Amino acid sequence: MASSLLLNRLIKALEIQPGVGVRSATRIAFYLLDRRREDAKALASILSLAMEHIGQCPLCRDYSDDNQICPICASEKRRQSGLLCIVETPLQVQAIEESESFFGQYFILHGHLSPIDGIGPQEIGLDALETRLKSGEIKEVILATNPTVEGDATASYIGSIAKHLGLSVSKIAQGVPIGGDLDNIDSHTLMASLKNRKPL
Ligand SMILES: [Zn+2]
Repeated sequence: MASSLLLNRLIKALEIQPGVGVRSATRIAFYLLDRRREDAKALASILSLAMEHIGQCPLCRDYSDDNQICPICASEKRRQSGLLCIVETPLQVQAIEESESFFGQYFILHGHLSPIDGIGPQEIGLDALETRLKSGEIKEVILATNPTVEGDATASYIGSIAKHLGLSVSKIAQGVPIGGDLDNIDSHTLMASLKNRKPL
């Protein structure tokens, strides 16, 4: 316990970061107080602004300022491709974009189905996805969820919805390690897995 009440509150607040326990939080707090006060004030203001204003693109659910439509969804060329790639996280969109092998649109689930944790179709935006699939713009759905049990189950669930609507469905395959995480795969591997996607 520090003698400053504010310092205790600061340490507690810093502990919300993943992988940061009380010891690291204390070290960070001392570092900011001793050396980076002005930068820390700037951090506090951008944190507050970001949390207030970063929302989601209403079409793909990627992060966007004040819920505006993102540049990828706004692109006429991408819309005309008729391709919709389903991923679990915004990081995966970045990875696929860096591979420069896909020029369609995306839909981000922000997770996967996990009934045990209370994450059902609604929590991962499947109602919005279904509306999008029914719009007539999408011709092919590419499932690029993580190759985990939950990711695969989510992909099958979405695949059956898309097939029911008469759309072609494929799933990325080669090069993606079983039980791995798409966030950590290099862009060449991702490019290969997109090219070698298999119809479901
Ligand atoms: Zn978008």
